[in-house]
Amino acid sequence: ESKLQLLRKHVRTFPDFPKPGIQFRDICPILKSPPALTAAIDLFEEQVRTIHPQVDLIVGLDARGFLFGPLLAQRLGIGFVPVRKRGKLPGTTVTAAYDLEYGKAELEIQEDAVSPAQKIVLIDDLLATGGTLCAACELLLRLKAQVLGCLVLIELKDLRGAERLKPHTVFSLLQY
Ligand code: 5GP
Repeated sequence: ESKLQLLRKHVRTFPDFPKPGIQFRDICPILKSPPALTAAIDLFEEQVRTIHPQVDLIVGLDARGFLFGPLLAQRLGIGFVPVRKRGKLPGTTVTAAYDLEYGKAELEIQEDAVSPAQKIVLIDDLLATGGTLCAACELLLRLKAQVLGCLVLIELKDLRGAERLKPHTVFSLLQY
């Protein structure tokens, strides 16, 4: 059984969550299975070592990017930095707004978390419309960091998030 097959078996789909018409992809079974979680981090590690060997930092998105990002960063022997929803981080922060289905939300990063010219790989659990990862890329550009690319476990192809993220690239382990 391949690592990707193992991973796919550990994603559950919940219809009509959090609202009618949405098919929610639940990654919690991956976290509960040591072999599946190891497979996910192995595949991310392989991708980064092959395509972005010069990476300096992994930046993970609130909240499910925090479940995978620190594990990957530790494998690579580099640091992890969180991007959080507004109001959670102390000190001076940089903020970027993004659109939700209804209304707006804001993401923040600590201003001193990333230095100019540092090479960044972003990680989240899932790419839908791409709004969240776009806002995170905007934060990094404002700190004058260099975004090498984005990683997600799951990409919802129909929503065309990868198009929206351009010129940044996204690598997904599973596509739906
Ligand atoms: P986007 O901004 O690309 O439209 O939405 C992506 C964000 O919403 C990610 O941070 C992700 O955690 C969350 N998200 C949206 N839909 C799902 C889903 O079906 N499953 C999971 N696990 N997260 C989702």
